[in-house]
Amino acid sequence: MKPETHAYPKIQLFIGGKWLDSKEHLPVLNPSDENQIGLLPVVSEDQLDCAVTVAEEGFRVWSRTAPLERSRIILEASRLMRQRCEEIAQSISLESGKPIRQSRLEVIRGCEFFEWDAAEGQRLYGRVIPSAPHIRYLVIRQPIGCVASFSPWNFPMSQPARKIAGALASGCSVILKPAEQTPAGSIHIARAFQDAGLPPGVMNLVFGQPADISGYLIPREEIRLVAFTGSTSVGRSLTMLASAHMTPVLMELGGHAPVIVCDDVDAQDVGVVSAIRKMRNAGQVCTSPTRFYVHERLYPDFVDSFVHQVEAMKVGNGRGEDTDMGPVAHSGRLKVLQDLVDDARERGGKLLTGGSRRQGSGYFFEPTVLSEVPDDAKIMKVEPFGPIAVLNSIPSLDEGIEMANSVPYGLAAYAFTHSAANVDQLINEMEVGNLSINTLEASVPETPFGGVKASGYGREGGDEGLLHYTIVKNVMHSIGI
Ligand code: NAD
Repeated sequence: MKPETHAYPKIQLFIGGKWLDSKEHLPVLNPSDENQIGLLPVVSEDQLDCAVTVAEEGFRVWSRTAPLERSRIILEASRLMRQRCEEIAQSISLESGKPIRQSRLEVIRGCEFFEWDAAEGQRLYGRVIPSAPHIRYLVIRQPIGCVASFSPWNFPMSQPARKIAGALASGCSVILKPAEQTPAGSIHIARAFQDAGLPPGVMNLVFGQPADISGYLIPREEIRLVAFTGSTSVGRSLTMLASAHMTPVLMELGGHAPVIVCDDVDAQDVGVVSAIRKMRNAGQVCTSPTRFYVHERLYPDFVDSFVHQVEAMKVGNGRGEDTDMGPVAHSGRLKVLQDLVDDARERGGKLLTGGSRRQGSGYFFEPTVLSEVPDDAKIMKVEPFGPIAVLNSIPSLDEGIEMANSVPYGLAAYAFTHSAANVDQLINEMEVGNLSINTLEASVPETPFGGVKASGYGREGGDEGLLHYTIVKNVMHSIGI
């Protein structure tokens, strides 16, 4: 393990370009050993009021800043974050338990989100519509205003990055509430933007009780967009609150990704990559592959190779250089995961490996593989959001697609096949926002990411990503009078 040369940053509110403290605090814990590593300031109502005021002022300044200059500042902040990659990665491994090698990749991914959006922000084109002489019809896109954003704990740097990048690249200001368990990633982002010369009030960070903050911010008329990533249940309640104020929302919610393995691929190879991807970030990824539907001819080989790979993984402290899988991010997840495993077994599912919390300190849940799990088991409908895979066999692609579509979610889905006919059927019939064939990558900065059904709506990334942060204005200009 590397010496811990990087200190965990002091967690403070960032409002109007100033670092502020508060009277009340919550502990921030290291999930690898349950030790306290920091104190999270709980924002007061006065401080939230101040954040709204400065964000409005910040919006006036930033929306009138030339897109090229906005892009320059975002790119400079990203350059600084790349320079500080190791320091940021060590912080987020400490607070989330994520293996350090994954944290480094996450920081780079966060920078890529900034870089893509910085470039896209210069291309928010409108159009000129052909018209009669002496009149012009223009359609322009303008930044929507001040955005209230809420990011989750599973990617402490790249999730806030995605929210901040979209807002800033479009000319909006933002008040972000990062997850209370993992605040350091956002602190590093704010430091980089401050050093890059972002005007005060354009980006603000508040921490505290999630419901108190969303309950205060969303009804404010100055808030023109609510952007949330997290569970469907919280997303639904924030959407209802926003709709009472006619405020639009961007919702990136849960998933329960299926993987269909057809009979024309190498079962062992696909088993290995599937196991590695499943256990990435201890399965705490909204696109994590969970329900594996494997053609019955390949099933025994696939199961062998998957379980073998899982059992070879090193589970340990997030800062360990050779750690493959860390703990889950907070204690509340352990009971949920245990319930899902117990329920699956009671209904006839087989436990092939793992299945319970590891003894000792830290929120470690063993990498777990279940097979032959019946459809009525809770885990077939409830997103585990943890290191649990279900391996079931299917007689045909038709059956696989039917099972894949049988949940309320529709975020990501995967399939392995070399047949063009199979791919065509998958494209036509899968009910998801993101379909990946022969790869378990679901989201890159260049492509739009988001869900259908209970997985939410709106897209982040691609050229679609910035559209939510803008309004369309139609201008009619008569030149004759
Ligand atoms: P949770 O719903 O309690 O919390 C998820 C996130 O939402 C946290 O970061 C929290 O700060 C925030 N949050 C909660 N209530 C809020 C409110 N009223 N206003 C504003 N923000 C609020 O769930 P959990 O137990 O921490 O995580 C498990 C579930 O969350 C999973 O089942 C998964 O679906 C979902 N999740 C999804 C993502 C994702 O990337 N889509 C990320 C993290 C969690």
